[in-house]
Amino acid sequence: MTDRAPRLPDLIEVDSARSAAPLVDGFARRISYLRLSVTDRCDLRCRYCMPERMTFLPRREVLTLEELYDLSRAFIARGVTKLRITGGEPLVRRDIIDLFTALGRHLGDGLDELTLTTNATQLADHADALANAGVRRVNVSLDTLDRDRFAALTRRDALPQVLEGIAAAREAGLQVKVNAVALKGVNEDELPDLIAWAHGQGHEVTLIEVMPLGDVEAERMDQYLPLDQVRARLEERWTLADSNHATGGPARYVDVAETGGRLGFIAPHTNNFCAGCNRLRVTATGQLYPCLGGGERVDLRAALRSDAPSQQLERALDTAMLIKPERHHFRMDRRGDQPALPRHMSMTGG
Ligand code: SAM
Ligand code: SF4
Repeated sequence: MTDRAPRLPDLIEVDSARSAAPLVDGFARRISYLRLSVTDRCDLRCRYCMPERMTFLPRREVLTLEELYDLSRAFIARGVTKLRITGGEPLVRRDIIDLFTALGRHLGDGLDELTLTTNATQLADHADALANAGVRRVNVSLDTLDRDRFAALTRRDALPQVLEGIAAAREAGLQVKVNAVALKGVNEDELPDLIAWAHGQGHEVTLIEVMPLGDVEAERMDQYLPLDQVRARLEERWTLADSNHATGGPARYVDVAETGGRLGFIAPHTNNFCAGCNRLRVTATGQLYPCLGGGERVDLRAALRSDAPSQQLERALDTAMLIKPERHHFRMDRRGDQPALPRHMSMTGG
């Protein structure tokens, strides 16, 4: 944004009217959580997420900050109370803090939580501003604490910045949750140490099974490490007690007696978590995917850029409720048997 342009929070008047009908899908699931991708771009190239030579979208296809804000407001009006900003890497988007600031004004007025998922490479620069905007918790993706391994896995030597980012977030008063993808032969030997480190710093950890999203050069089955195996190995070292903690999301939690910390497992392949699904995802181009693991889609950008954006958006959201599938259909087969979903996680918004 140039100096002449008004900053986003001043552009749009805060509208607290929430008269529209709540979002309830065909399986009576109430939708209260939106994961909104603000860019498909990223400063890392995690091997399970994207290829080295990733083709990014032309900028004109990506929603403007104003469009992202208007869209979020429409979701809040329909009963979305939790908003997670994601990507790509949300913090590489220019002026993204303006969007956080504008959305932060809805906290306590329709919105209960505003949060983000980040790789933390630029978190040190933005932690204070995020806290000032009303963000209280951030999810940081971190799969290894070994600098060489990190560089090999993400194709960038950025572990020191990430650790700095996490420390800055803590100092700014943000609660940090660490997300780690469990990868066969890559970090499987290190997961207990990663968990012990994070719990020692007061961070919750969630382990994630790799999902077959987009072509990434690597063979997915070679990366795939079932979390029931990880759990069994952790139990050789620690006492894990099933926890009642639930977030309405896909994770199942345990408390680790020895570290005193909480550990989550997101295992789409080994247990299906769809029955209580309360979420929707919107890509940076405004495509609403009611399911991460399905091809169903509604074009919200077309609605936003139409002559009657409010009505078209309402209609599009109603359509999304009709087409949200009962469950995902991920399958982790060899390439050729079952093609991966063509969308990368960085596009759909992880
Ligand atoms: N760049 C940010 C980050 O890494 O936190 C936000 C976007 S990233 C796509 C969101 C999450 O998706 C990260 O935790 C990442 O590890 C995870 N992820 C990416 N590709 C994945 C895949 N194929 N399977 C499982 N998780 C994946
Ligand atoms: Fe970037 Fe996040 Fe994908 Fe890694 S997982 S390449 S940090 S979008």
